[in-house]
Amino acid sequence: MHEIAIVGGGPAGALCGERLASAGFRVSIYDEHLAWEKPCGGGLTQKALRAYPFLSEGPQPKKFVKACELVSSSGKRALLSLDRPIVIYSRKVLNGLLLDRAAAAGCELVRARVTHVDTSGGAVRLTAGGRDTRADFVVLAAGARNPLLPGTTPLKQQDLDITVGYFIPVASDRILVKFLSKFAGYIWSFPRSDHLSVGICGRLTPGGTRAMKEHLHRFLDAEQIPWDGACFYSHVLPSPQVDTLRRRPVVGRNWGLVGDAAAWVDPLTGEGLHYALRSGHLLADAIAEGRPESYPARVRREFAADFEFAVHAARRLFSGNFMGGAVTTRMIQFVRRSPAFCALMRDLFSGSQDYRTLKRRLWSQLGLTLGEIFQSFFRPAPGPNSFDAVSH
Ligand SMILES: Cc1cc2nc3c(=O)[nH]c(=O)nc-3n(C[C@H](O)[C@H](O)[C@H](O)COP(=O)(O)OP(=O)(O)OC[C@H]3O[C@@H](n4cnc5c(N)ncnc54)[C@H](O)[C@@H]3O)c2cc1C
Repeated sequence: MHEIAIVGGGPAGALCGERLASAGFRVSIYDEHLAWEKPCGGGLTQKALRAYPFLSEGPQPKKFVKACELVSSSGKRALLSLDRPIVIYSRKVLNGLLLDRAAAAGCELVRARVTHVDTSGGAVRLTAGGRDTRADFVVLAAGARNPLLPGTTPLKQQDLDITVGYFIPVASDRILVKFLSKFAGYIWSFPRSDHLSVGICGRLTPGGTRAMKEHLHRFLDAEQIPWDGACFYSHVLPSPQVDTLRRRPVVGRNWGLVGDAAAWVDPLTGEGLHYALRSGHLLADAIAEGRPESYPARVRREFAADFEFAVHAARRLFSGNFMGGAVTTRMIQFVRRSPAFCALMRDLFSGSQDYRTLKRRLWSQLGLTLGEIFQSFFRPAPGPNSFDAVSH
């Protein structure tokens, strides 16, 4: 195996290409846009920054954010002061950075749409920009809408969320996350270096998009975020179910899926950038070792097994009740009243708390959390917009 074709030059394809070219393969990355402003929040948590320090070190414009404000459906608010920042990029800048690194490692970047992939013969045959070409192996990194799926099935409707949002030319230093009543999703506002990416994600249902837009507009008005002249976007976001995580083929003899194409997105938070980078990296390592078939086990060990816990946690978070109220509302009240619970949420948001050990941590500190909550009733209650009591 020597020639590798990569369809898609987003984070998954670009990092996979960089690793393979560095290992001595001849790599062509095909993307119809190359670096572009893909609809996205652009937030990178500590997981990604630890694995790829160049993401926080380079001169490219980006925003380091340590303040994350949670808002419940009833308007209760709590501020998480993160000890390690989330870094937020415009996707055009992030994709450009990753593609530049791939080119510097030796990848050929081709601006072309791939319209056909045939993996049935010895060599892979592709049609890119109307021209036929061949490769020994094809990496499919073309995102969640990708119809090029040799040897596997498309994602089902229940594996997909829909997002709608706006890029808004407003400055802020704070991430906002708002939960809604009886709604399996949330609204976010992510500040970038010169604008906000504000959006809402939820289940892909008939008529759902219009209702989501209405929620989003109400949020923008309530938060007094002026959105005249904002640029609208909409995109699907994988939210894989357990069966898909366990059974959908993601690699074959001469092909492999990475990033959103493989549905490697955290089913609870919608975080996909870290998993796009990691899956591109893990497939490249498996190919370089001559064992592409080992890729699913690598992914499972590193994060796909954790995603199965996230599927259950998402159901509990968005639809569950606890002590007579919505779980999201209780969560925000607990953040306001318990430093131990606040620290747990901080670790979850910054990406250093996985789901597998979350339940154990919740139980092991339950006594402390309840004690802190009980004691907090003997202190003056924090006002609805006061963060003094929650910036631990
Ligand atoms: C609204 C929204 C907000 C999000 N916010 C966050 C966030 O804040 N943090 C986070 O971690 N994740 C976020 N995500 C998820 C994240 O955007 C994705 O997980 C990530 O972009 C996946 O990277 P990828 O390389 O797999 O795919 P993509 O980034 O989608 O890249 C696919 C590339 O393939 C190209 N392509 C597609 N088809 C073809 C073709 N036929 N021929 C040639 N090229 C093709 C496209 O041009 C594109 O450049 C968000 C997603 C959405 C929709």
